[in-house]
Amino acid sequence: MKNILTLTFIFISSFSFAQDGKMAQTPPAEILQQIKIDVVYLASDYLQGRGTGTIGEERAADYIVHRFQQIGLKPKGENQTWFQEFPFFEITNPHATDKGRIEGKGKNVIGFLDNGAKNTVIVGGHYDHLGMGGSGSLHAGEPEIHNGADDNASGIAAMFRIAEYLKNSNLKSNNYMFIAFSGEEKGLFGSKYFAANPTIDIERINYMFNMDMVGMLNEEKVLAVQGTGTSPTWKPILEKKNAQGLDIKGRESGVGPSDHTSFYLKDIPVLHFFTGQHSHYHKPSDDSENLNYEGIISVADFMISLVEQADGSKLTFTKTKDSSEKKAAAFKVTLGVMPDYVYTGKGMRVDSVIKGRVGDKGGLKNGDVIMKIGDINVEDIYKYMEGLAKFKKGDSTEVVVLRGKKLKKKKLKVTFE
Ligand SMILES: [Zn+2]
Repeated sequence: MKNILTLTFIFISSFSFAQDGKMAQTPPAEILQQIKIDVVYLASDYLQGRGTGTIGEERAADYIVHRFQQIGLKPKGENQTWFQEFPFFEITNPHATDKGRIEGKGKNVIGFLDNGAKNTVIVGGHYDHLGMGGSGSLHAGEPEIHNGADDNASGIAAMFRIAEYLKNSNLKSNNYMFIAFSGEEKGLFGSKYFAANPTIDIERINYMFNMDMVGMLNEEKVLAVQGTGTSPTWKPILEKKNAQGLDIKGRESGVGPSDHTSFYLKDIPVLHFFTGQHSHYHKPSDDSENLNYEGIISVADFMISLVEQADGSKLTFTKTKDSSEKKAAAFKVTLGVMPDYVYTGKGMRVDSVIKGRVGDKGGLKNGDVIMKIGDINVEDIYKYMEGLAKFKKGDSTEVVVLRGKKLKKKKLKVTFE
């Protein structure tokens, strides 16, 4: 541990943070400082991108244990340890005939706040990232460390903040379990394993909160919250005006590309928090200097306020439509663009176009708002997915976009490959 603390100190002293000082309510300096320490350490090159099953994952796991101990949590992994090991596998080249299969072990880190209550609330997020790149990376070129500051050092730092608050609060009607998952980037391996092999009685899990990328809160303070349909408790409290001034953009489905899905599929109410897609996503440039640290506190404090409002008896679970899951499985083609998940207008805004892919070849540009694909009117991101599901490789179609500040209408032709 000594080693880690020394290193943390070095990172902090050699790192300059953008201070804007214009925030109406500057959060207490110590909270802000702690969140920076957590993110800067987890997203440092020393952890080599926290790839599941690597030495970097191990270093990150040790740091998480150190913080859990500092906060005063108790270990709740396997055999009274902090860890829960799980197997993972990876198909290295899905297009090759002799598919390379890598197998290994990753580990979840689990801390517990025991209030002697009947039910337990789980707050978690993944701490693994892409390591030196690999199939999940959008980086073209030589392997490079993917530090994953937003994805998802930010979520882990927010989790520590929530744990610290709950430890010192009088919210005692639930126990709280904090889980740092690994294996997420390779396919939700850690959370799936926990949901299948929970270290507490699964019937007594009240609900689960997941944070994945909460470090890039924008100026409009838009926070995407998924899973609002998984319990009747959520919508009324999410719709209330919040003290953090966040503009909540809710989606009902309990299924999405992160760890909350593993819990939803076990009939547990979930909420997933996400500040939105950006150009550093899954690239080596997802570094700690890009993050909005006050924003991380806002998200954490907002989540704490939800815990306060949901306090009481066990929540009722409701199934959601989960259209995205089935539609996603039906996809045969892709435009090769990253959608802007926090865009609130009509259409589907493209955050970034991936070079050399279908959209790029057809002339799509970053910031374009897709209004139509073929004869499908793209009302929102879900209509966009529905639209894409209708095409197969080799099909050509027209894509109508609005471009630039003046929202000039452009018609493009794309050919799916
Ligand atoms: Zn992530």
